[in-house]
Amino acid sequence: MRPFELTAPETVEAALASPGTFLAGGTTLVDLMKLNVLTPRHVQDINALPLRGIDTSDGLRIGALERMSDVAEHPGVYPAISRALLLSASQQLRNMASLGGNLLQRTRCGYFRDVGTACNKREPGSGCSAVSGANRMHAVLGTSDSCVATHASDVAVALVALDAEIRLTGASGTRTVRLADFYRLPGATPEVENDLRPGELITEIVVPRLDWAQRSTYVKVRDRQSYEFALCSAAVAMDIRDSHIVDARVAVGGVATRPWRLGAVEAALRGAPATLETFEAAASVAAEGAKPLSGNEFKVSLLKRTVVRALIEGSR
Ligand code: SF4
Repeated sequence: MRPFELTAPETVEAALASPGTFLAGGTTLVDLMKLNVLTPRHVQDINALPLRGIDTSDGLRIGALERMSDVAEHPGVYPAISRALLLSASQQLRNMASLGGNLLQRTRCGYFRDVGTACNKREPGSGCSAVSGANRMHAVLGTSDSCVATHASDVAVALVALDAEIRLTGASGTRTVRLADFYRLPGATPEVENDLRPGELITEIVVPRLDWAQRSTYVKVRDRQSYEFALCSAAVAMDIRDSHIVDARVAVGGVATRPWRLGAVEAALRGAPATLETFEAAASVAAEGAKPLSGNEFKVSLLKRTVVRALIEGSR
């Protein structure tokens, strides 16, 4: 790890007034600093900032510094969000990691974390080792010739399904952005992963009220049942009345370069009976546009089966 200067501002204004990389739980940043993937000269420990609190009086408002474990265990949090958090990382990491930091976590592509290899995301223009290398864990949706890395967050998938927004505060004020619009496709610039402006801070996560999201779920398929990233995951919420689907939200993770909303699947579900046949028909369009790599063709069928499983669970 390279030497760096550490400060600990106590107000948002003080944090925004100084340059430096923000440190919350540190569960991504410190890892990447140890690997010399990130080498900030100035780090600001922002844990003293007043960015805590979970308000469930009208939808959800969650302070960006709330810990993953506290959000997961809060009784007013929608089940899809809670399950996505509980299926992430380990209890120790969930106790440390903040919700805002989770949304900004970097990809788990092994080449990104290995400074001895070519990686356009880490070193723009150097090439992508994964395209012709070990790519079993990589994306099949939203990829480009420059990068095929998946987005690593579980809870971002549930939040995108539930139309969450984030509040961003910077030197020029506060703005609100739909989380689904926040993340960028890699295109020719995979090093630019989101819409965060220099010096901006995520201060709050807002989930609009959606009463029928009380019946929501998150399914995660992975190589082992604990402390592992998703091969594929799906967040589902359905409004079912008289055995028919009035409305539906579906997003998937582990298969795409950003949390991936499945609008075509949602359209196929609306107005249909809540049956296995409907779920299988809707899931059949889940992988539209998929471009499998040499090592991850299995993800195309896994994606469809994961969506079916999540729809079954979400209908109960
Ligand atoms: Fe880097 Fe993206 Fe290629 Fe991985 S997939 S090596 S992160 S450019």
